[in-house]
Amino acid sequence: MYKTLIAAVLGVALAFSGAGRAEAKTTFITIGTGGITGVYYPTGGAIAKIVNAKKDKYNIRATVESTGASVFNINAIMSGDLEFGIAQADRQYQAYNGLSEWEGKPQKDLRAVFALAPEAVTFVAAEDAGIKTLADAKGKVINLGNPGSGNRQNAIDVLQAAGINIEKDLKGEGIKAADAPRMVQDGRIDGFFYTVGHPNGNIKEATAGKRKCRIVSIPDIAPLTKAFPYYSLTHIDMSQYPEATNKDEDVTTVGMLATLVTSAKVPDDVVYAVTKEIFENLDEFKKLHPALAGLTREGMLEGLTAPLHPGAEKYYKEAGLMK
Ligand code: GLU
Repeated sequence: MYKTLIAAVLGVALAFSGAGRAEAKTTFITIGTGGITGVYYPTGGAIAKIVNAKKDKYNIRATVESTGASVFNINAIMSGDLEFGIAQADRQYQAYNGLSEWEGKPQKDLRAVFALAPEAVTFVAAEDAGIKTLADAKGKVINLGNPGSGNRQNAIDVLQAAGINIEKDLKGEGIKAADAPRMVQDGRIDGFFYTVGHPNGNIKEATAGKRKCRIVSIPDIAPLTKAFPYYSLTHIDMSQYPEATNKDEDVTTVGMLATLVTSAKVPDDVVYAVTKEIFENLDEFKKLHPALAGLTREGMLEGLTAPLHPGAEKYYKEAGLMK
């Protein structure tokens, strides 16, 4: 009785103060990204920065978390530990349709928000390991990527398409992308795979060290694009890595888009606000990381296989980007 009375008095006081009312409504959202040397982490930071600039309007407070990347992010969104996350388009497709890590367990609550920058399956190898082609990875120590990353399955797909058995033909490691450049430089691995947007700090770190490295081309991608609809041909602009030994080569590989995903359980007004602010501040957003420079409003509606979140759809219709 006594407690109820205090609560009632406090309630009335808060209702009249106004300040208490505004505080109580803040919505906290966390965006899952990837390793701190990749592109997801600064991209998540850029999204949070733009959304937080409108704190007064939406009362949304966004924070960013460094994570194991695509697969981890999707799983954490599905369990309610994260509200948003960045994930490769191939992983979005697989999770929604119950393939790969989600075999038989389709994630039907996964929702697409928008696409981000393209990513390329990037194979960095030490020059002294004699790896000039995918086939040269045989007998070598190669980091395929940590469990929870998107890139691990990409490495496996690419190697298998080149006839390499990842169990028998090489020693495959499962370390985090952020640790891979240092491990190459220390001579503990011969090379590593990273599916990432360009330019990024991780590949710069690996190619700028004492131990000379190249980015190995993955030229024969027809079997891959045929078997997996989400892969497409992409080029790595080597002018971004002037210290790589093959800086003058045209490096081709497979790629896909990075995407922002969420859950059907995240409220429409929250997803609407995030979508609207990124699209309406696109020029500022593009300046926050060089890998985002090529984004276009139309391109950001590609590569989305999970259903669009209704909050995002509402904005696209309002903006005339969708009928
Ligand atoms: N595409 C990577 C992955 O999902 C992450 C890349 C990044 O963090 O920029 O494993």
